Amino acid sequence: MKTVFVVGAGPAGMFAAQKIALAGHQVVIVNRDIKHGGLAEYGIYLVKDKMKSGLRKQFAKVLSLPNVHYFGHVPVGTKQALTVDDLRAFHPDAIVFSVGAQGTKKLGLPGEDAKGVYSAKDFVYFYNSLPPFASQDFSTGKKVAIVGMGNVMVDIARWVLFDNPNRQTEELTIVARRGPFEAKFDEKEIKYVEHNLDRNELNAEMQRVAERVAAVGQDIGKAGDVFSILQHTDVPQTKPVMKFRFLCSPKEIVKGADGRICKLIVTENLLVKKGEGTAAKATDQTVALDIDTMIFAIGDVHDPNLGLPMGPEGYSTKPVPGDERSLYQVADPQTGAEMEGHFVVGWARRASDGLVGIARHDAEVGATHVLNYLASQPDKGAAAIETIESTLRARNIQVVNKTELALLGKAEEKEAQERGLTYFKYSDDTSMLRAITREKKTNNTPAMAGADD
Ligand SMILES: Cc1cc2nc3c(=O)[nH]c(=O)nc-3n(C[C@H](O)[C@H](O)[C@H](O)COP(=O)(O)OP(=O)(O)OC[C@H]3O[C@@H](n4cnc5c(N)ncnc54)[C@H](O)[C@@H]3O)c2cc1C
Repeated sequence: MKTVFVVGAGPAGMFAAQKIALAGHQVVIVNRDIKHGGLAEYGIYLVKDKMKSGLRKQFAKVLSLPNVHYFGHVPVGTKQALTVDDLRAFHPDAIVFSVGAQGTKKLGLPGEDAKGVYSAKDFVYFYNSLPPFASQDFSTGKKVAIVGMGNVMVDIARWVLFDNPNRQTEELTIVARRGPFEAKFDEKEIKYVEHNLDRNELNAEMQRVAERVAAVGQDIGKAGDVFSILQHTDVPQTKPVMKFRFLCSPKEIVKGADGRICKLIVTENLLVKKGEGTAAKATDQTVALDIDTMIFAIGDVHDPNLGLPMGPEGYSTKPVPGDERSLYQVADPQTGAEMEGHFVVGWARRASDGLVGIARHDAEVGATHVLNYLASQPDKGAAAIETIESTLRARNIQVVNKTELALLGKAEEKEAQERGLTYFKYSDDTSMLRAITREKKTNNTPAMAGADD
């Protein structure tokens, strides 16, 4: 039996852990958040209960495996609870990094630090109750802009338009650097918000960019073929209104006296051919939009503070044509030398790439390469769980293990029942740790080291 550390307990980490554990190895999951699930718990839209509960059940099965250990509330990285060097010092046989894409792709705009400007990742973490984002200011105003045209934009639009309990929004503008033919959202998703679409505005916007998209052979009259909501002409319109502003890229954020965004200056773009596809080309024409909240949904990048070498695409690998394993194997970006036993899977391998099913597949393929690697390695005896526990205890880290995670689940179930909800989750670490301690007292199990009540 070998020991594999899996860093990150989102879908990729959980499914990689399952595959490796079922092959008979000891798996130690180390996760930043108290709860596992990653974006499946803290990203997927609130009301997608069926999908969320299905995934929760699958993850519970993984954690129920006796050779899977869980260390929640333990971020790994430079100046974090554990560094990558700390992990190596525990002598695992391999380390799988499945930390997702936790870095923020900055727009690099003047005024980007204005109040009311958020990255989509932080924003969805906020409304999905992930600590510490859940307790931070993500206030939205009357005129909201979302930059980007994918499914994440639609999720955020749904929240802004319907589910925000403090909603004041009157107008939502989707800012897209290219045109309607390049929309990336799925038909099934956009239907949730199409009642809010101002169709007169949309038609006018189509005409505004008709000539520019014609430059790459796109016929605006046929936009309905790809931009399917255009075909649903009989949908009654409700407020707040949603509109699209195509062929525009953010150029500058103007702050008001209160430090909050009050205008978004955008550059008008042309559309040009790029290989098989299209690209936006900036003109020198700009327009100022009245905006008090801006959320950029343009994908995320890898967190450079994890402690893995970074290449141009994120955590560094050295892909060799025809060698699938090399896609998962961490490698030095300068020399190309493989970092033996270090693997990346899921969004930690390819940032913001696809749905849970894709992350799962990627993790399972990666795990197969991990298993092949383990088979080639001599046995050095399983790394001791007690050593990891005592190290974290000495550093005063309040680790949450599998048993405690189950107690937290119980506490949240009780809370849901009391409040008459189908599901309840705590939105700050202190409440979660307290709930675990309370459950322990109720169940007469030893109190958690360091957790107060
Ligand atoms: C807004 C949004 C909505 C989505 N909606 C859907 C949907 O409806 N359907 C669907 O199928 N897919 C959806 N997806 C995609 C899906 O969430 C991803 O495919 C999937 O979560 C990627 O899994 P992952 O494990 O690679 O990364 P993540 O889910 O991001 O998991 C990363 C894990 O690593 C941990 N971690 C991060 N940093 C560290 C660190 N330094 N140390 C230790 N642990 C760390 C985190 O705590 C987390 O548990 C959505 C994504 C987003 C952003």
